[in-house]
Amino acid sequence: SDEVAALLPVVGGDTTVPLVDGSQVVYANLDYAASAPALRTVADRVTEVLPLYASVHRGAGYLSQVSTALYEAARQTIARFVDAREDDVAIVTRNTTDSLNLLAGVVPAGERVLVLDLEHHANLLPWLQSSDPRGHRTTILPVAATVAATLEVLAAELARTPYALVTVSGASNVTGESLPLDRVVEIAHAAGARVAVDGAQLVPHRGFSLARSGVDYIAFSGHKTYAPFGAGALVGRRDWLDTGTPYLAGGGAVRDVRTDRTVWQPAPARHEAGSPNVVGAIALAEACDTLAALPAGALEAHETALRARLVAGLEQLPGVQVARIWPDSDEPVGVLTFTVAGENPGLVAAYLAAEHGIGVRDGRFCAHPLLARLGASEGAIRASVGVGTTSEAVDRLVDALRQYVEQGARSSYEVVDGCWAV
Ligand code: PMP
Repeated sequence: SDEVAALLPVVGGDTTVPLVDGSQVVYANLDYAASAPALRTVADRVTEVLPLYASVHRGAGYLSQVSTALYEAARQTIARFVDAREDDVAIVTRNTTDSLNLLAGVVPAGERVLVLDLEHHANLLPWLQSSDPRGHRTTILPVAATVAATLEVLAAELARTPYALVTVSGASNVTGESLPLDRVVEIAHAAGARVAVDGAQLVPHRGFSLARSGVDYIAFSGHKTYAPFGAGALVGRRDWLDTGTPYLAGGGAVRDVRTDRTVWQPAPARHEAGSPNVVGAIALAEACDTLAALPAGALEAHETALRARLVAGLEQLPGVQVARIWPDSDEPVGVLTFTVAGENPGLVAAYLAAEHGIGVRDGRFCAHPLLARLGASEGAIRASVGVGTTSEAVDRLVDALRQYVEQGARSSYEVVDGCWAV
């Protein structure tokens, strides 16, 4: 499993950090689900293209033409990475949140949207804006105790009421679990509804194919896909995107403007007003190409092995409980959340950082309804892995937690403004 970590170096994988006793250790980044470090290939590509920096789609100069060609090639690469169909359109956005807000803005007025109650807020709140002048109507469907029962509840709801769109997470940012997308698509399409997938946690961890899955829209983030912040994508069916309300009004999104009327471009330009994030798109495309060149299944095998090692280690520790939504879900991606009985998750996370140089996340992970469902409204701790994670990092987390539960709670830390303090 550590072969992938050796094969795909990331920037900052050897960063040393100070511990509370004054010593230094190599940082163990177990927070890939929040933001994954940039791949070395991505960093190199950014350095290569920075001198070509110029405005796209506007200038006749040589650098503008090169930049435009690189930007449009990046769009193609991003579309290819998610195996877009011939007539799909790829829009470069800022991140998953941006992509889903954009999609929420083009669902035809008056149509119904169905969302599950386990979603990240990015796939919940854009659909819930009740003052939304665009006028779609959203229902939140509580998931059931098993995957099988959840699919039945979904089918029953879709049979009862006509929906235009079902929007689901491709993998939970809390537990790594997912519904089988092929079944969701089958059920939704049979009822005449489209399917959008929040791919923020799915796309960086597994291959994804719009063409094979039948999913209608996929949204994902560059900064979770081993590229820097600021670029993401929405890829999917052209019709709503071609005719829906432009996401941003401004230059580049229009064909002709008079003082009394505006003729908008079709997608993707329609939703990309203003100077786009050219370098971000190129960086994301480079990450896509690097990941796509990995042997099939290598990344999934790497993450599955690390996750299994972590679960096995955590389950040995008294009071440590790994959260699951369903007992019958498919193999989760490399994200898991746990609680330590009687312990404040923020303090545990602070201890891991301060005494062991381990980076995890604590809190409610922008998924408050799901945390409530999991009985962890006070928060929990999340560890997540990716290409650069080694088994040594996973073992360090388990060893550190073992020391913590054996020695009892620390009282010498507090979390101030998100950082640990003694
Ligand atoms: N959906 C899921 C499942 C996520 O994990 C995240 C990021 N935590 C988002 C959406 C939002 O991603 P971004 O912050 O890049 O918009």
